Amino acid sequence: MESTDSLMAITPRPELVFARGEGGWLFDERGQRYLDWVQGWAVNCLGHSPAIVADAIAAQAATLINPSPSFYNRPALELAKLLTAKSAFDQVFFANSGAEANEGAIKLARKWGQKHKGGAYEIITFADAFHGRTLATMSACGKPGWDRLFAPQVEGFPKARFNDIASVEALVSERTVAVMIEPIQGEAGVIPARRAFADALQRLCRERGLLLIVDEVQTGCGRTGMAFAHEALGLEPDIMTLGKGLGGGLPLSALLAKKEVCCFDYGDQGGTFCGNPLACAAGLAAMRAVLDEDFLAAVRARSETLRAGLSRLSASRGFGEVRGSGLLLALDLKREVAAELVSRARDAGLLLNAPRPHLLRLMPALNISDAEIAEGLALLERVLDGMALKAA
Ligand SMILES: *Cc1c(COP(=O)(O)O)cnc(C)c1O
Repeated sequence: MESTDSLMAITPRPELVFARGEGGWLFDERGQRYLDWVQGWAVNCLGHSPAIVADAIAAQAATLINPSPSFYNRPALELAKLLTAKSAFDQVFFANSGAEANEGAIKLARKWGQKHKGGAYEIITFADAFHGRTLATMSACGKPGWDRLFAPQVEGFPKARFNDIASVEALVSERTVAVMIEPIQGEAGVIPARRAFADALQRLCRERGLLLIVDEVQTGCGRTGMAFAHEALGLEPDIMTLGKGLGGGLPLSALLAKKEVCCFDYGDQGGTFCGNPLACAAGLAAMRAVLDEDFLAAVRARSETLRAGLSRLSASRGFGEVRGSGLLLALDLKREVAAELVSRARDAGLLLNAPRPHLLRLMPALNISDAEIAEGLALLERVLDGMALKAA
């Protein structure tokens, strides 16, 4: 392959150049096609270059790309109205990445702490949590080793254990302003919060006057078969962040909050590209489709089909549990072969993700067809046959 030295090496990449995407499929420059169950890391909620998003982008690009964040624009207003209508939140701030939305959530909570909670600023987060790659969000992450990477950290993020309410209670003090949680820990390996833990966390936040922040960058926007995953847990958060699928493939994220919490003063928050009409037009087209009740019901049906197929495959090969919700699913392989499996599957024309050495994560387009589900499962079976995996 040609030299790629002019790009910073930030991750090992296969020697392929992708040229085109269409729905569930990606095509490389040689014309090889791949069934894509990564979809830009759960970003292309309607698949690659869906007509409704591509048309919205083309029309908006020809009309107005960015008047500046200090003026209103129609797509941002309409998308904010849609998101507040479909959720329990009152106001929205648009940003460009999940990390940037989470930075905004951290700033909003700290500001609220300064105004209403005697300067409390600590935000309790969780072991193995993932919230992004800026310095503050890396400090909020619970990824092992990240506390020393790029030290010193931003302070104020004590870590509790996920699904362990006593570990949260033990960290609450007069310095605590909020708890920030992923309803399903995504990068940690698709670990769902348990209902009893969610109930206890909600109660604790109410009793101690703490803000509850849900990071739904991965789980929001229909990914779990609900508009937002915290709904299934019965949580009533004060702040929510969205990203990934929100822009239908374009960089777009959002910070949403209840009106009592919206306490930024002029100048506290902003960003050159924040709320630009091009990204918001894409998000509006995608979210009008995705946040529809019938569409979400169809996501849940597709989830059952894929889950049933994975469970059959797991049972016949002695793998472990299938977990997750909607079309954020994971299969525990019970042995550390996920990286090899991902590589062999790619050679066979199926793109998969392995967030852990023993774990496959599936994040197909939310509108994946039954035929694509069947084809992906058949490809997976063939690759597993080739690896001759035996029961652990
Ligand atoms: C991906 C992700 C982020 C970071 O989003 P970026 O757009 O990569 O900054 C934050 N939180 C969660 C839960 C994520 O999955």
